[in-house]
Amino acid sequence: MLIRQLPETLINQIAAGEGIERPSAAVKELVENSIDAGATKIQVTIQNGGKNAIIIEDNGMGMSAEDLELAVERHATSKLQDNDLTNIASLGFRGEALPSIGAVSRMSIKTHDRQSGNAFEIKIEGGAKSKVTPTSHPQGTTIEVRDLFYATPARLKFLKTDRSESMQVADVIERLAMAYPDISFTLIDEGSKKLSLHAQVANDLMDDETSPRLKRLGEVMGKSFMENAIEVSSLRDNVHLSGFIGVPTFNRGTATHQFLFVNGRPVKDKLLVGAVRGAYADFLARDRHPYLALFLDVPPEDLDVNVHPAKTEVRFRDPNAILGMIVGTLKRALEENGHKASTTVAQDTLATFMHNQNRSPVSFSGGHSYGYRPSSNQLFQDVQQQQAVLNTAMSMPSARFETSVEDHHDENNFPMGIARAQVHENYIVAQTSDGLVIVDQHAAHERLVYERMKKQLAETGIKQQGLLVPEIVNLESNQAALLLERKEELEQMGLTIDAFGEDAIVVRAVPALLGNKVNVQSLIIDLVDELITFEEIHSLKEKIEEVCSTMACHGSVRSGRRLNQEEMNTLLRQMEETPHSGQCNHGRPTYVKLHLSDIEKLFGRRE
Ligand code: ADP
Ligand code: MG
Repeated sequence: MLIRQLPETLINQIAAGEGIERPSAAVKELVENSIDAGATKIQVTIQNGGKNAIIIEDNGMGMSAEDLELAVERHATSKLQDNDLTNIASLGFRGEALPSIGAVSRMSIKTHDRQSGNAFEIKIEGGAKSKVTPTSHPQGTTIEVRDLFYATPARLKFLKTDRSESMQVADVIERLAMAYPDISFTLIDEGSKKLSLHAQVANDLMDDETSPRLKRLGEVMGKSFMENAIEVSSLRDNVHLSGFIGVPTFNRGTATHQFLFVNGRPVKDKLLVGAVRGAYADFLARDRHPYLALFLDVPPEDLDVNVHPAKTEVRFRDPNAILGMIVGTLKRALEENGHKASTTVAQDTLATFMHNQNRSPVSFSGGHSYGYRPSSNQLFQDVQQQQAVLNTAMSMPSARFETSVEDHHDENNFPMGIARAQVHENYIVAQTSDGLVIVDQHAAHERLVYERMKKQLAETGIKQQGLLVPEIVNLESNQAALLLERKEELEQMGLTIDAFGEDAIVVRAVPALLGNKVNVQSLIIDLVDELITFEEIHSLKEKIEEVCSTMACHGSVRSGRRLNQEEMNTLLRQMEETPHSGQCNHGRPTYVKLHLSDIEKLFGRRE
């Protein structure tokens, strides 16, 4: 007999190897259990990044003595009542977490059974279970996990530093917290409070219309996200997409602030990356990324969450429909909020103003306040800078003020206000009902030209240019067929292709906009890659739009051109009407708005 059944503890350790990779994975499973148990308050305490101790306390419904005994058995769960994997309503369903964690650590569970009012305790150490004994415990359950992976030393060796493990723990809690704003979450790390997320409830009495979800997102993603978020919501075929997306000017260099939740479950899905790229392609340089948190609610039967033990991946029955829905919804929302630039732009401006202002007394009084002891070098730089500021101020060509007395316009009707002056031949200063707007005329015009070109393209179609010598592109097997399936779609975008043997195609015409220097080979390879990953054609559209964007840049009013008041107002009105006019094609803002209250702050009239 060579084949034998493995002992239970070993099986559980193997399962732990997959599902419980590191302390944060144990925290995720345990917090999910607390959420499933209906807790409204969850506190996590860790030591050494969770390696030495993880303690989870919740105020959920608890367990009876019989349930507690079963809970630490493999494949025992209270959550798949009708044995239906196609209909999962809870975060857990595998019945694996507690036995897996118990097999690789020293674990104790104390729980107060809401039904009987009694409390019980069980311990497992490296898989060896104690009897269930009576104990005392307030409402809810406390699970202590000590010396995680002591029973599997190989895994222990692969853990990162305490600091890095503890960051992952915080990340896991934050992600779950984003999906459950009505639950309060606390993380205590080495005795100090790392996270403290208060339960957010809708408050109709207070004069506060911010949704609990947005407040929670603000707690996790930062207050500026709250101020720069656009709400999205759409419903199609029982799929509900909702959430908040950042305005394009509020962007950053990595995609780490993009969150997707499917049926209340934080998931990592490349679908989101593709969708976000597609939706923001028009407004952001390729290497900039927006902030966003999207929540998809899909009928359980259209979704498979049983993909991986960590449950962070899902499969959609119809991924293309979901992708299309996300791209469409985001694009529409961005269009509708097109002339909204981020508030941080105004804040940055304000900060710069304040900064210069704070410096001024230093140069005028000749001295400086006590406690401010700059090195001689720094002092030299400071003086130089102040001198420069002063010089520009003195030599500044006078702004042209053309305030006509009988102004027929009423700034109340125009979000971008009424032009009052042009300064330095590039900046339009306009007065709005509640502040002032400074427009970068070149950037703004560039956007307007670009949008016009895109509109023309959409109306008149894309002009083609035949290749003098048709180009043959060799592809891997199946790829040619993949492209040929989309022949008509490509034709509409100006690309004519035909079959050429089994594994090649011949390109006969390309979009004229791309010019005659286009590298046909790499264009086709890009297209194939995209069809394989996203089943969508972005790159051709993108290339065409890139060309439009460059042409727009060249065709725009250069900075340095004087505009009269009528021209300035025309530009402002066009900006109001044009989608996405809040940023130029590179994601830079086209205008900055200063609220009257901001201006008052500048002059110390307001705190
Ligand atoms: P699953 O969550 O997949 O059911 P687990 O091993 O994580 O599997 O948990 C087993 C069972 O233990 C759960 O189905 C649930 O009934 C019970 N349980 C676990 N944690 C808690 C808790 N904090 N409060 C109440 N019941 C719990
Ligand atoms: Mg569970």
